[in-house]
This record gives sequence, structure tokens and C-alpha cells, in this order.
Amino acid sequence: MKLHEFQAKEIFRKAGIPTPNGQVVTTADQAGQAAKDISGPPWVVKAQVHAGGRGKGGGVKVVKEASEVATAAQTILSKPLVTKQTGTEGVTVNQILIEEGVDIDREFYLGMVVDRATRMPTMIFSQAGGMEIEEVAANTPDLILKEHVSPITGWLPSQAGNLIYNLDPVPPPEVRKGLMAVMANVYKVFLANDCSLVEINPLVTTTDGKVLAVDAKMTIDDNAMFRQKALAELDDPREKDPLELQAEKYDLNYIRLDGNIGAMVNGAGLAMATMDVIQSAGAEPANFLDVGGGADEEMISNGFEIILGDSRVEAVLINIFGGILRCDVLARGVLAAAEKTKLNVPLIVRMEGTNVEEGREILQTSNLEFLVAKDLAEAAQLVAKQV
Ligand code: GDP
Ligand code: MN
Repeated sequence: MKLHEFQAKEIFRKAGIPTPNGQVVTTADQAGQAAKDISGPPWVVKAQVHAGGRGKGGGVKVVKEASEVATAAQTILSKPLVTKQTGTEGVTVNQILIEEGVDIDREFYLGMVVDRATRMPTMIFSQAGGMEIEEVAANTPDLILKEHVSPITGWLPSQAGNLIYNLDPVPPPEVRKGLMAVMANVYKVFLANDCSLVEINPLVTTTDGKVLAVDAKMTIDDNAMFRQKALAELDDPREKDPLELQAEKYDLNYIRLDGNIGAMVNGAGLAMATMDVIQSAGAEPANFLDVGGGADEEMISNGFEIILGDSRVEAVLINIFGGILRCDVLARGVLAAAEKTKLNVPLIVRMEGTNVEEGREILQTSNLEFLVAKDLAEAAQLVAKQV
């Protein structure tokens, strides 16, 4: 679960990580009012959406006159925000954060994730802040520093030293102290909130020697939501794809992708293999949908409905290996969904396993139009030919 920047900053402030003062608003009028309570110039007007790259997409505006705050907010609210992470149709901006502007001296990147290789929380720090960290990693990997945190010792001041004394130039003592405190507190925030990601890009130093989190990103591990009830309240379903919301409700594993082939598969491994085979047949999957090993007729029907609810889908591939999920159950689920939602794109079915004959017969004796593939490779070839 992702948090908004203003929500993450609220948590930061309580944990002792300094941030600029700000207020969240939903209209241009409120933005104008907020500017009166917040010191400036400059003021920073920031779209609150769960997508990064807002600055380059026009979602972050630094203005010099209080009277420009409302106008900037109006501009941002008036149309979908398109960034590198949103897709071309962009996302609706519902909330805006108005902040006091900061006189930036240096910009750093500070992040914490769980490192898969070492299975330890890992702090990532770079003096190349304010730009995309992926680009820094690709072009100047030497500028990215890492410290793994042992769960036995926790974050150690010496680790902060390893990161800070590698900066060029090494900052003055006051700034070093500020950076050390932020690092220790980021680790605390990461643990206390069961995060999979905490990211501050940029973490800045000001011309008067302060250290401030100018941006904030926090992702909470969904598996921890049962014990993070207070954080669950911060969930903003408006930020989610409607089809992903529907899938969540039905307990289906669904991820939207960029292509036009809808795919329904049981089991995450088979789903990934199916994505690959679709791609190698020259087509692009529109989604990843794993109905799960033990799916019942209703889940199949729900899954199929979600795929057909995606207007980009031009052909559907069902690839099921019947184990616990029997092929006859699958067939009934598909028929049930096809009755509810009009099927107006080609359907390719490949199934194998338990009760496969019965499943085939159910489909064949129905009015449903579909093509049968004998194996996965043929299924992918067939489906790719339809688009
Ligand atoms: P992102 O593009 O979605 O990551 O949004 P950020 O919050 O990182 O803002 C984008 C950029 O705006 C930052 O990298 C800064 O360079 C700039 N920015 C944000 N706040 C301030 C501020 O208070 N003063 C100045 N001068 N620049 C700011
Ligand atoms: Mn940023």
C-alpha cells in the first residue's frame, strides 16, 4: 500500500525527520488561503498522486508570489497529470500540498528497501539527489552508496559515518549531524511501519545548514496490514486502477500491464511463463491475472469479467492447468462470465489436467465461440494472430 507524500511527511515529522511546513487542499481557493498561513516566498505547489516524476510532468510548481499559488493549484487540478510513471492518459489530481519553499544548497537521495540478496533492510544514499535514482545507478553507479542493517545491532552511527564521509565535499559538522539523525530515524520509520520502501528524493540541505525531506515516498508491505490498522485508514482507493480494486475485492492476483492480450492463468509461475510466451509470439499482455490454484467457478467468472472490463483487450487467452482447480469448474466459470458480459473479442483456450475432457465438452456444447490450442506455444501463436 502506497502513501501520499503528505501522509508520509506527517509520519516523518512525528519521527523527528524535518520537512517543510505545509497544508493539504483540494481546491484552488483553499490553496490561496493556505498561502497566507505558510511562509514564503517561494511557495511550492505539489500534486498528491501515487506516481513519481511529478516535477518533470508539471505536477510540482515553485511560485514566487502568494497570488500565484491559487493559479498554480488550479492549473494542476484542471487536467490529468501525465508523468513517466502514469501512462499517457495520466491520473486525476484530487489533492494538492502547499509548502513553504526551501532554499536548496545540496540535494541527496536517501532510501531504504529490503535487499533481496542479503535479506536485510538496506539504506541507499547518494549525493546525486533530485534526479531519477535508476538513471544514477545506470550512469554513475559509484555515486550510490549502500549500508545493510543487521537486525541484531540495528542502524549504527558508524554506518551513517560510512555514507556521510564518502560525500564530496564532506558537509560541515552541523549538516553531518542533521544527516545522521535523519538516517537513524528513517530506519525507525521503516521498521515501525512495516515498510517495503521509504524514499526521500531529494533530501536537501539548505543554505542555512538545515537538513529537510523535500519529497517523501512510503510503501507499506501489504502482508503487514493486519497489524498496521492506523495506516490502513490512509489508503486512497482513488489512486488505484478500478480493475485492480475490483480484483482486490474478489481476492484475485491482478496487475495491469501495457499490452492488449487479456490473459487468465492459474498459478503465479504459469502466469509468468504465459506472459513470456505471449511476448515471444510478438504480442503484449494487457494484464497479469492469477486466479490461484484453488479458484472456484465464481473466481474464474470474476476474473474473466475483469479482463473483459478492460477496453484495451483485443483478444483473451485462458491458460489453465487443472490440478486442484478442475477444468470443468473453469469451463463453467468462463460460461457464467460470458453470459454476464458480452464476449466480443476472440477467445483462445488452452487447458490440461483434471477433468479436461469434461471441461472441453462443456465449452464445446455451449454457444460460446472460442479457439482451442493444444499447448501453450500454439495458444500464444493463436492469440497473437488475433490482434
Ligand atoms: P517528484 O518529481 O515527483 O519526485 O517531486 P519532488 O517533490 O521531488 O519535486 C521535484 C523537484 O522540485 C525537486 O527535485 C526539487 O528540485 C524541486 N523542489 C521541490 N520543493 C522545492 C523547494 O522548496 N524549493 C526549491 N527550490 N525547489 C523545490
Ligand atoms: Mn522526488
